[in-house]
Amino acid sequence: MQAIADPQSKIDQKEFAEFLEWKKFRSMQERSAIGELTSSTLTNPPLVVHNPLCVRKQQEEGLCMVGSVRAKGKCKNCGGKFINSGKALGCPKCFITPEKYIVDYHYKGKRYRLFKDKSGEILDSYNRAKRLIERIRGEIDEGSHDPTFYVQTDKRKFQFDQYIWTWFDLIKDNLAPSTTLLREKIIKKHYIPFFTNQDIREIRSGDIVKFLKKLRNKKSNNDEKLSSGYIKTIIITLHKVFSDAYSWEDIIKIPVFPKIQVIVKPFKWIDRKTQELILNETDPRHHPIFNFLFLTGCRICEATALKWDCVNLKENTLLFKRTHSAGKLKETTKVNGLAATSPY
Ligand SMILES: [Zn+2]
Repeated sequence: MQAIADPQSKIDQKEFAEFLEWKKFRSMQERSAIGELTSSTLTNPPLVVHNPLCVRKQQEEGLCMVGSVRAKGKCKNCGGKFINSGKALGCPKCFITPEKYIVDYHYKGKRYRLFKDKSGEILDSYNRAKRLIERIRGEIDEGSHDPTFYVQTDKRKFQFDQYIWTWFDLIKDNLAPSTTLLREKIIKKHYIPFFTNQDIREIRSGDIVKFLKKLRNKKSNNDEKLSSGYIKTIIITLHKVFSDAYSWEDIIKIPVFPKIQVIVKPFKWIDRKTQELILNETDPRHHPIFNFLFLTGCRICEATALKWDCVNLKENTLLFKRTHSAGKLKETTKVNGLAATSPY
């Protein structure tokens, strides 16, 4: 009883009591076997342990009984092995329960030894380990068991904050430089702070709705709400993450995504009078490019990316087929890259 009296001891009191009961029962059994006790002492055993009939009954009902809970390490006191009573583990000599447990099982020809449960908590009590093995057995019965949810090294690669960078590395080569920067920013600013280390396989439609709600309440650096266009980009990109994960067979289902309404703001034009005022303030050497921008209404990055093969003097049209993206010249893939003219 000395071990249980130690207040510093991390031993689960209830667990220990169960073990003790078992120990008492076993010693009674042993004593009765050598004739020290009468059989009447054993009519009300404190608990039924390792009843082979129970196990057989469960097996007959087709319930999975795979695996076992074991102690990690040996008794600190005597170095002896911990013994399983069916309700707890303990050292039969010192009345000490283990500090850590292992769930040990075979599945599809492979052996798994788990030190942590699904949420990454160390198996520090018999009950925690027991709950884990029961959960796994249930999943095996249902046919839904996937060990990668439990094995920590496998589990880590599915954690959102890790998976998203794997995804980004795989897709970034096909992106325009400015899109790469934008995606990186969205990942750091919006995805990771929300989804953190959540398992991507366990993210559901409800999580996406919560994420969208959070985005709508978020404010940017200049204390303005995020624009609906930006929110749509964030959500569409996230959908792309999930559809890629699905096509790579990392998830079995893409969560349902809410539809985003974008409020289209009318284009703002600088009127002719203001344009002239701007021209008056600029070096005449730069007038041609300003006039070009005023006339076509194109973006600066589109104007600077024009080459002679974009100009069709016969039909009087311009084809914007390149753009400067984050300082780099980039062919655009848009099919409707047609000549644009300003209303002036
Ligand atoms: Zn011991």
